[in-house]
Amino acid sequence: MRTSLETWFRYADDLGLGPYYRGRTAAQPGPGASESPMELRPKIQDVPRAESNTRPITEVAKPEKIQGPSPVPAQKSTPPPSLIQLSKAPSLFEERIENDTLDRIRDAIGGNCTRCKLHKARTKIVFGVGNPKAELVFVGEGPGRDEDAQGEPFVGRAGKLLTQMIEAMSLRRQDVYIANVVKCRPPENRLPEKDEIETCSPFLMRQLFVIQPKVICALGSCAAQTLLQTTQGISRFRGEWFDFRGSKLIATYHPAYLLRNPSAKREVWKDLQKVMAHLGLQAKRK
Ligand code: URA
Repeated sequence: MRTSLETWFRYADDLGLGPYYRGRTAAQPGPGASESPMELRPKIQDVPRAESNTRPITEVAKPEKIQGPSPVPAQKSTPPPSLIQLSKAPSLFEERIENDTLDRIRDAIGGNCTRCKLHKARTKIVFGVGNPKAELVFVGEGPGRDEDAQGEPFVGRAGKLLTQMIEAMSLRRQDVYIANVVKCRPPENRLPEKDEIETCSPFLMRQLFVIQPKVICALGSCAAQTLLQTTQGISRFRGEWFDFRGSKLIATYHPAYLLRNPSAKREVWKDLQKVMAHLGLQAKRK
């Protein structure tokens, strides 16, 4: 009997042996594992909200005991202080609008957004898709060619792998919500630039605030570093739990990275198992 896990492992192998799907070169390694120049800051623990009950930035979240096959590692007796430096991007955390809805956010973006230079080459704005009451939200980097053409996130090769991962968790695509840090395709699939992220990500913050998922899964460096406001490389904190404005956040490698590095699928599956344990899900058997 083959599990969905095996299916998506095999699927990635089938897809992943060719050149990187987004045509990035080694000099521009893509969303999965790119390591920013390391700033040896302490570890992330808590990303507070901007409102008045904001917890101090140095306050460390209580370790959460997660049952299941891949428990969260026990917290050391002296917890590390937060590495979050909110002062660097306060605007990201100020986006709290009373009675906000996904429709209002979509309207606020508008049908022909020109707030950043990404609008010049895009075909469709890729807002986000899925269950507006999802318990689990996946956040990627930005639309690729297929997403730009169809107006839906994660529909290309990496998207098919993400769908396999979701199904291996015994969920369907329509059960979760999927969005990106930037809503327009960066030309030639380059990484989104700082100004583009700063312009667009407040809309993502609003989406997350409206949905209030139990778990946010950041896919790849761009999403993880944007949400956690860090320049630390994802491999340093992948698979760890963070408190994010009332949700739990975990970062894992981007499916596009898995297409190039199938051996990393094991680590990603461990991360997804943690998410499943937190949501009370059991791996699906076919
Ligand atoms: N990669 C992403 O980060 N997002 C998409 O929507 C598609 C590919």
